[in-house]
Amino acid sequence: MVNMDMAHASDRGARALNVTIDDGPDPVWTPRVLKVLRDNGVKAVFCMIGTSAAQHPELVRQVVAEGHRLCDHSVHHDTAMDHKATAYQHAEIVDAQRMIEQASGGVKPMYYRVPGGAFTPYSRQIAASLGMRPLGWNIDTDDYKLPGVQAIINTVERELPNGSTVLFHDGGGDRSQTVAALTDLLPRLKAQGYAFGFPLR
Ligand SMILES: [Zn+2]
Repeated sequence: MVNMDMAHASDRGARALNVTIDDGPDPVWTPRVLKVLRDNGVKAVFCMIGTSAAQHPELVRQVVAEGHRLCDHSVHHDTAMDHKATAYQHAEIVDAQRMIEQASGGVKPMYYRVPGGAFTPYSRQIAASLGMRPLGWNIDTDDYKLPGVQAIINTVERELPNGSTVLFHDGGGDRSQTVAALTDLLPRLKAQGYAFGFPLR
């Protein structure tokens, strides 16, 4: 069983960031996010919704083939699941793990992130018992609210002292601001001496 405590730190140390990309895969935005990551030599964690992974297995396989890691983000992205029965929470976690693993061609998600960040001790324990480290975040870009490219950039730079794990999205709507912000941020952060790693397991 992996650690059931929430992962935030990076395997590359204190001056490193973990890029995490939630709510995909999406046929429009996931390839664009992958290109920005590829152009900058950055590996990320993709927290996928089970139903989307099942619809787009080719994108799941591409994410894996390009060296990124998978994260279970539940079957249906029900942000109220922490208030529901444990059997429901269990099914949302274990069924999405199976859907993502099938879509990837046998590569298991290494992390679990509850939709909306509403972890319960029960959901953390279930994820850990299935071999997935519960994954938190330190820097919430709020990119899904479409605040503007510069606002996303400013949020990341302001919150850099908070810790290593940064939350972006490649699903759930128009993610052009996210792509533009990553295109600006990744080279600049590298120039500032930041490394990019994976959340500790
Ligand atoms: Zn989400």
